[in-house]
Amino acid sequence: MSKPAKPSHFIQEIIDEDMRTNRYGGRVHTRFPPEPNGYLHIGHVKAICLDFDMAAINGGLCNLRFDDTNPVKEEDEYVQAIIEDVRWLGYDWGDRLYYASDYFEQMYEYALVLIKKGLAYVCDLSPEEIREYRGTLTEPGRNSPYRDRSVEENLDLFQRMRAGEFPDGSRVLRAKIDMASPNMNMRDPVMYRILHATHHRTGDKWCIYPMYDYAHPISDALEGITHSLCTLEFEDHRPLYDWFLEKLEFPSPPKQIEFARLNVSHTITSKRRLRQLIESGHVEGWDDPRMPTIRGMRRRGYTPEALKDFCNRVGVAKNNSIIDYALLEQCVREDLNKTAQRVMAVLKPLKVVITNYPEGQVEELETENNPEDPNAGTRRIPFSRVIYIERDDFMEDPPRKFYRLAPGREVRLKSAYIIRCEEVIKDPKTGEIIELHCTYAPQTRSGSDTGGRKVRSTIHWVCADHALEAVIRLYGPLFLTRDPEEGGDFMVNLNPHSLEILTGCLVEPSLAEAKPGDRFQFLRQGYFCIDSGAKEGELLFNRIVPLKDEWAKLKERRADRH
Ligand code: ATP
Ligand code: MG
Repeated sequence: MSKPAKPSHFIQEIIDEDMRTNRYGGRVHTRFPPEPNGYLHIGHVKAICLDFDMAAINGGLCNLRFDDTNPVKEEDEYVQAIIEDVRWLGYDWGDRLYYASDYFEQMYEYALVLIKKGLAYVCDLSPEEIREYRGTLTEPGRNSPYRDRSVEENLDLFQRMRAGEFPDGSRVLRAKIDMASPNMNMRDPVMYRILHATHHRTGDKWCIYPMYDYAHPISDALEGITHSLCTLEFEDHRPLYDWFLEKLEFPSPPKQIEFARLNVSHTITSKRRLRQLIESGHVEGWDDPRMPTIRGMRRRGYTPEALKDFCNRVGVAKNNSIIDYALLEQCVREDLNKTAQRVMAVLKPLKVVITNYPEGQVEELETENNPEDPNAGTRRIPFSRVIYIERDDFMEDPPRKFYRLAPGREVRLKSAYIIRCEEVIKDPKTGEIIELHCTYAPQTRSGSDTGGRKVRSTIHWVCADHALEAVIRLYGPLFLTRDPEEGGDFMVNLNPHSLEILTGCLVEPSLAEAKPGDRFQFLRQGYFCIDSGAKEGELLFNRIVPLKDEWAKLKERRADRH
């Protein structure tokens, strides 16, 4: 993988400064620390890119570490999925795949050290009492009546907590810091709780589990992390992060650096909310192509390159904002424009009979595979008397600016001939247009001299006898509002039309060879890929992104609704 260019943001500045002062002996070591309690989403992509790219750019390393300190919500299924997703993005952690649970024994030993230093104590207050004693933002907290237990008693109780002598919730181990601290996180935070739960890796070995705020700095320090990048909500936890490392006397402790979460308009980046969408049946699962999960976006046909480009364009900031989904789509479009093979597909077919074209004759016409790619070459597509065009490319009574096909008018068929509409055939009962009778001008074959003949538009088509039937799924935004939480209940803002399924679509015969995951540009329509769930030979397409930005249309639809 090529090394990304050195960015100019505050995190790079901190690293530059640490290099200059030789703070970490010239080392840069980051980590991506997902909790395996769900699937990764676009927000995580940002964190992944930042963690891995900062390491790569500065000649350092990045670890993948599962922050698996809460056995109740974590599962191996998520571990495997996260590994696959980070790999799919193209990142490599070498042999540095770690689990916070690997350090449980060391964390326990360090807790004993803190107890012996008089910096941690076993507290018997109930969770409600702890909350009550903690005070509020405006009032200091009160000391727990158990705060002054002797070191011996604390050691004894903590060892018995580990041995399983006490029920869940009956006792905790707390750091002894300052109940009057203006920072709530410093008011004797809980380090360990009792939880008789089976852990996805350590099984039933433990019945006490460390809290994130205690486990994270120790995991970072044990792995020799230098720059521990995380999102802004941890800013107020940084003094605690530093406190643990200082009291445990880690030499050259890592620094925590916070950056703004990525929020993308019209979608959500919270595992809990995404799970609600699945459980309520609004989407089919974590890999539903409408989901902003890596699985969903991958199935939709987004590329790792486009996602990385998006994260780079968004940049790294200290203040939270919402990024337009349109920018993400633009990144996808620009990437696919370079690589996707062009083909012709008719989503809503209208039959066209070319009355002066010899019956039974089939021509093979040459057409380019990708005008953006000089090496993409050409292919041959069949043409004959009966073809299909897009229903929208014909209007019986066109308005002034409609330059496509209409009675008596001419258009060019892409890579084929100029045709003229002679007659409109309608269903006598319904009046619906069922086919067009056209004539073609043989001397206008694409690539030949058309004698100065001009048409104002070129449309796509497929040959009736050779076209293949396809099902195409069009996706719209998951939410109709820019901020899905607008008005308080995100379920109310769901887009009821986020999925539209088109059947009876027709695609050119070259697609017979297409395999799940293959991406194409359907001329004039957008980018599409074969769904990963398509059966052998089944032409089931997902629209990855329309060719043009359709967000303006969404605004109109919303205006209609209100
Ligand atoms: P969620 O809120 O979806 O549950 P999380 O923060 O609990 O996410 P973790 O598995 O703990 O999920 O996240 C792993 C890393 O990804 C953390 O360092 C976290 O800061 C980062 N991260 C999570 N969401 C975002 C986001 N929207 N933008 C940037 N980074 C994120
Ligand atoms: Mg988290």
